[in-house]
Amino acid sequence: MISDKSSEVLRVEKLKKSYIVQGDQVEIIKGIDLTLYKNEFLCILGPSGCGKSTFLRCIAGFEIYNGNIYVDRKIVKEPGPDRVMMFQDFNQLFPWKTVEQNIQYPVKIYTKNKDKKFLQDISNRFLSMVGLLEYRKFYPHQLSGGMKQRVAIAKALAMKPKIILMDEPFASLDAITRRNIQKELLKLFNQEDIAVIFVTHNIQEALVLGTRIIVMSSGGNIKLNILNSLTKPVTPATDGYGELWNIFIKALDV
Ligand code: ADP
Ligand code: MG
Repeated sequence: MISDKSSEVLRVEKLKKSYIVQGDQVEIIKGIDLTLYKNEFLCILGPSGCGKSTFLRCIAGFEIYNGNIYVDRKIVKEPGPDRVMMFQDFNQLFPWKTVEQNIQYPVKIYTKNKDKKFLQDISNRFLSMVGLLEYRKFYPHQLSGGMKQRVAIAKALAMKPKIILMDEPFASLDAITRRNIQKELLKLFNQEDIAVIFVTHNIQEALVLGTRIIVMSSGGNIKLNILNSLTKPVTPATDGYGELWNIFIKALDV
């Protein structure tokens, strides 16, 4: 899965991030080095509060940080359409816009192309990909949580980003919906030319989705960085599943 250097999508060098809390500077991320290549699906595991969301926000360009972050060899200084972020929250869509308007709106802003057919083709294509074309005229409140997350995925993909940053996007879904949406995400990942960074609390989810899995420590750095060599589709019955699961549970058990 590792490609040559030319397909590098993300490079993080000596990343540090502090916050000022009640007048004191508290260092949350204490030095992360990481390189990610095209077509990698990186899952991040780590204890609550270790800085996973902070790390994603730095890559997204929402934070001032120390060190270097390059996306497609360009230094990250601010948010941009090459990185889109998706959250756990079901309310990531504009409630006053229809499903298709939600997808078209950011595309219109970033491409500056207002052509109706161009925008319609894009929303139709990505809504078909997540199986929601027939819901294109619905409003977010008319959809279930799982459907809203699928629209959010379609919206992210429609931007044609280099990287999709996903912060526990399926954590609030029931087990069956979660399994189905994981399968859909993997299918889309295999069709599109993107890298994904996906934060999860769930070792099984990391093993099912990730091509590479890292564990962040409560000390704010990377404790473990391994390629997921399990044969896809991964289930608990897959050869080697138990061994990898044990490695991660040990790394998370501090
Ligand atoms: P995780 O996503 O791994 O649970 P976070 O990145 O959300 O962790 O938070 C890491 C630490 O940084 C936590 O201790 C949190 O309280 C602190 N933190 C996050 N955002 C801020 C902020 N804007 N100001 C001060 N402290 C923050
Ligand atoms: Mg978080």
